[in-house]
Amino acid sequence: MRHIRRVFVANRGEIAVRIIHACRKIGVETVIGVSTADRESLGARLADRAVCIGPPASVSSYLNKDALVQAALSTGCDAVHPGYGFLAENSAFARLCTDNGLRFIGPSAEAIEAMGDKINAIAAAKKAGVPTVPGSDHVMRVADALATAARIGYPFLFKARAGGGGRGMRIVRAENEVEEAFNGATMEARAAFGNDALYIEKYVESARHIEIQVLGDQHGNVVHLGERDCSVQRRHQKLIEESPSPAVTPQIRDAMSSAAVRLAQDQSYVGAGTVEFIFDSATREFYFLEMNTRVQVEHPVTEMVTGTDIVAEQVRIADGDEVAIGRGPLRLDGHAIECRINAEMPEAGFRPSPGRIDEWDAPVGEGVRVDTHCFPGYFVPPFYDSMIAKVIVHGRDRPDAVRRMDQALSRLRISGIATTAAFHRAVIAHPDFQQGRVTTDWLERRFMPGYAPPQRSEAAA
Ligand code: ADP
Ligand code: ADP
Ligand code: MG
Repeated sequence: MRHIRRVFVANRGEIAVRIIHACRKIGVETVIGVSTADRESLGARLADRAVCIGPPASVSSYLNKDALVQAALSTGCDAVHPGYGFLAENSAFARLCTDNGLRFIGPSAEAIEAMGDKINAIAAAKKAGVPTVPGSDHVMRVADALATAARIGYPFLFKARAGGGGRGMRIVRAENEVEEAFNGATMEARAAFGNDALYIEKYVESARHIEIQVLGDQHGNVVHLGERDCSVQRRHQKLIEESPSPAVTPQIRDAMSSAAVRLAQDQSYVGAGTVEFIFDSATREFYFLEMNTRVQVEHPVTEMVTGTDIVAEQVRIADGDEVAIGRGPLRLDGHAIECRINAEMPEAGFRPSPGRIDEWDAPVGEGVRVDTHCFPGYFVPPFYDSMIAKVIVHGRDRPDAVRRMDQALSRLRISGIATTAAFHRAVIAHPDFQQGRVTTDWLERRFMPGYAPPQRSEAAA
């Protein structure tokens, strides 16, 4: 029997729509909390009910814990899905939900806290026998940083203890850069996370970002659904993701996934989570980066190659069910790729381009999926993240998936706002991408310098 009958969606955009569809599929009602800027959103239309939780600014709406919990309680919800971003990795919010008798669809507040503190997470990874990057504990002074550098060498990275979203990170290539980078990273971390603590990691050059999707349940089972390769990045943020990784052999997959499962088991992890690794293509060694205690933007590529519904599974797990997917030997069917489409102008430094969408025509068909909250006439508000859609394709192998992505992107017609769709087409057409040879620094170092924006008419389309 289901205990969870009505889920409160504490998020917006495509992930809100995704959660509503997953709940409907398993017979669970939804109520969405919307800011005044999102009253006419697709999430508001699709949910069984929408309630206004505050003005457009996130701090007063999507980050307002009390308003969200009050709205969930007053509409008779029994659980809260936080999506990703906003309060998804906020342990105080998870605790506030459970203290008010609402199930939080995610891990315990303790697990969120343990993994959210990245220095602590690295210590937990070491304890679980998971390889970590050479580096430091909390560095409080420039002198500490210099001492660590003398031990591990250059280049290294300053990273924020409470970091996320690729922010608060600085590469340091020589001793004379240490002080300035330390001060800059400290300030950025304080501004972005309200916590200026930093730590150091050796910078792994020509690395790939590879991560393992895990799921744990309340009965002690932990499974994994293979890896995603998210090496196409700009400013340490993912733009394109795929599964399986072109660089991963069955042996590497086994080693990485057992490391991820060990860490999750040590945390008595419940729900969906992702263990992120940096993979050195030269040595084929992998090192733990962090664990994200939520559903990830790129979860659909895993769903496509494993034939699962990770969001529905999150709800079932929160309801006390045993994890039902990924129990047998892992079977990966074909190849999936996702492109994150943003309302931005690549030719103007990726400046956001909010506004009214006149024409919106998304590709449909076998092996094509578009996760979005947009429609013709939708107004993209300027207050939030600029991602407006995810185009996901599934092919029988990688070349087939790349071909399908090119077709899907060519059929995506959007006018009224600028988008990154044409940029993505250029990226996937590049020989390095086609040969599966990209590393996390590739886009900025190799691709961008030679990128010629397409004709104006196409760029606007
Ligand atoms: P994923 O890890 O799922 O690929 P991202 O790192 O791109 O996702 O982050 C997903 C969303 O959450 C983005 O909108 C990003 O800006 C936001 N986000 C991630 N971490 C944080 C954080 N610590 N603080 C604020 N926003 C964050
Ligand atoms: P966030 O919490 O912001 O997602 P991560 O630790 O996951 O931070 O790192 C984000 C990205 O930064 C990685 O995907 C990778 O591209 C880069 N990065 C982080 N740590 C290292 C490292 N030690 N060496 C090389 N690249 C790194
Ligand atoms: Mg990360």
